[in-house]
Amino acid sequence: MPLSPHPLPDLRARLDELETAHLYRRRRVQDAPQQPQALINGRPMLSFCSNDYLGLANHPEVIAALQRGAARWGVGSGAAHLVSGHSAAHEALEETLAAFTGYPRALLFSTGYMANLGVIAALAGRGDRVCEDRLNHASLLDAALLARADLRRYPHADAPALARLLGDAATRLIATDGVFSMDGDLAPLPALTQIAHRAGAWLLIDDAHGLGVLGRGGRGSLDHFGLAPDASTILMGTLGKSFGTFGAFVAGSEDLIETLIQRARPYIYTTASPPALAEATCVSLGLVEREDWRRERLRALIARFRQGAAQLGLPLADSQTPIQPLLAGSAARALAWSQALEAQGILVSAIRPPTVPEGTARLRITFSAAHTEADIDRLLGALTRILADELSGGLFRPLERTGNAGHRL
Ligand SMILES: *Cc1c(COP(=O)(O)O)cnc(C)c1O
Repeated sequence: MPLSPHPLPDLRARLDELETAHLYRRRRVQDAPQQPQALINGRPMLSFCSNDYLGLANHPEVIAALQRGAARWGVGSGAAHLVSGHSAAHEALEETLAAFTGYPRALLFSTGYMANLGVIAALAGRGDRVCEDRLNHASLLDAALLARADLRRYPHADAPALARLLGDAATRLIATDGVFSMDGDLAPLPALTQIAHRAGAWLLIDDAHGLGVLGRGGRGSLDHFGLAPDASTILMGTLGKSFGTFGAFVAGSEDLIETLIQRARPYIYTTASPPALAEATCVSLGLVEREDWRRERLRALIARFRQGAAQLGLPLADSQTPIQPLLAGSAARALAWSQALEAQGILVSAIRPPTVPEGTARLRITFSAAHTEADIDRLLGALTRILADELSGGLFRPLERTGNAGHRL
């Protein structure tokens, strides 16, 4: 008699299926700090796949602040914020973030994923209607599922479709990315804020990719559209992207923040992030606000890339942000492009389903203020060679001959 009447699922067979469908994911091991000059398995590579848009992750002043913070506070926070882990460094960063975003208060979370889970599950319960953009970040979608809300997804950036959706039932909350993480385009925030006000619904804006990059002093997507913070609009921002550190925050009204402190489970039941990290983020936030040249430099690099790519006839998306996807279509083609770039010493990740919808696999190219014009030109040169190769039928052949195993990283 076998011990278990139910055999465990055959994990290997499922992994093999992913491999066959060009959907298997592998990690690259970095040997250098986050910067355009990556070192992968000892090999120097030029990287275009970081969210360190302003080049602050490896900034000497931010590193020094983290070191000073560790000397002052030690490493671990020791407990959750509601127990004994909430330090004066956390408190000061929350006040600074509130002032920066123009909201009455801000609350730190350990990660953006947790912040989104926390806000949505605190405001919407079982059966409450939550409307989300179809291309929202996974954490916003997961949050509505976790809350057991009645999740409805509207077509991407389609405000009239959202308005129609709100017409047929009371809606508790609308959630959208400010800048869409895989497309680089912006949510129609002026229309969304109006629709939310009219419906008496909360609007949650996840500005992971807008903060630091858009708006005056990097204040983000709302400021980009000239919209002021208000009591029904909630802002979620991450600190691991433009700010170059780690963690996240939610900004909103006094009552909203107090509600999250009482009810957001991913806030309550987790250890506070290290206080030294809060010290480092305070310093990086100062650089984000003061150093407009970083945003100007980014804009110039983006313009240079888009102009060059348009001349080459590359399948550019409608994005003015540092996220510049090149649509490949099939997962196999996106992977082949990424591998061909890698062969030329350039790192760009292929983004495949389920991260993006079926048939829209792409290269996700991202720029940083730490890139140079020569870096952009090198990328354009490599893409030119890949396109020429593809036209002559040469790009897919090595893949077919050797199978995927030969292309493992
Ligand atoms: C990165 C990201 C998150 C998650 O933030 P983490 O701090 O990395 O957990 C949430 N939303 C969007 C749109 C993101 O890009």
